[in-house]
Amino acid sequence: MKIAVLVKEVPDTWGDRQLDPQTKRVVRAGDNVTDEINEKAVEAALLLRESVPGSTVTTVTMGPKSAREAVRRSLAMGADNGIHILDDRLVGSDAVQTSAAIAAALALGSFDLVIAGNESTDGRTAAVPAMLAERLGLSQLTFLRTLAVEGDTVTGERMTGTGYLEVSAKLPAVVSVTEQIAEARFPSFKGIMAAKKKPLETVDLNELGSPDDFAGAENSGSVVTSVTVRPPRAAGTIIRDDGTAATQLADYLASAKLL
Ligand SMILES: Cc1cc2nc3c(=O)[nH]c(=O)nc-3n(C[C@H](O)[C@H](O)[C@H](O)COP(=O)(O)OP(=O)(O)OC[C@H]3O[C@@H](n4cnc5c(N)ncnc54)[C@H](O)[C@@H]3O)c2cc1C
Repeated sequence: MKIAVLVKEVPDTWGDRQLDPQTKRVVRAGDNVTDEINEKAVEAALLLRESVPGSTVTTVTMGPKSAREAVRRSLAMGADNGIHILDDRLVGSDAVQTSAAIAAALALGSFDLVIAGNESTDGRTAAVPAMLAERLGLSQLTFLRTLAVEGDTVTGERMTGTGYLEVSAKLPAVVSVTEQIAEARFPSFKGIMAAKKKPLETVDLNELGSPDDFAGAENSGSVVTSVTVRPPRAAGTIIRDDGTAATQLADYLASAKLL
């Protein structure tokens, strides 16, 4: 079984993430990390590889030069090889363009199973997995908290607002997993050294088809018209218990119409 896992490099979730009012894009100059949910998706793929002998795990990312580190990390965790979609014409891509470029790379690899995170921790559109399934003409199972493959069928438990559904689909298919799917293993020193020798292919839009199909406003689904910097968080209300804390709290909640 050929498994592809989509990993995204994102600004450090715990860092001070900013949008640049000039470019209207996220500032990626600071610390970037591999998206946490994507590390868990890599773990889910490695566990599937262990359960289905002969399987391979390929990591795919679309992003700037620095995104290469996200692929390297997945190779150090144990993935077999990586694909980095790198092209200046993709800078500032929205979900529609991102899905077009990634779908083209996946089509070249003809994978049996594509595993993505349910949402990225920066853009959070939670749209790319469905867009990929549509573009590739494949079934999709999204928001899975469990994942298994038996023969040519993928199954899992899909999180819902009230619990979960047991869902299944024939391979090839696209699935997205939530943070409940698995705990990501830490790359061992041996894994980090081995990753340096594993194949990591860099492809640009010319290798994926005609660039006009991917880049440019005509291929995007959204335009950012303005960016407003979030006002600094106002200091909270501090209640000191001089015997009237309960009253103060009730008054505060009432004033906030929470009572
Ligand atoms: C603050 C912010 C707001 C944004 N708002 C919008 C918006 O409203 N509409 C819009 O179209 N775009 C938006 N974008 C751009 C969007 O984030 C990018 O186009 C992104 O590459 C795809 O969307 P996503 O991150 O929301 O993906 P999601 O659909 O949330 O990601 C789901 C999964 O898809 C995979 N994936 C997503 N992107 C990549 C990638 N580049 N490489 C590899 N795997 C990937 C990962 O496995 C990820 O877990 C926004 C970006 C930011 C930073």
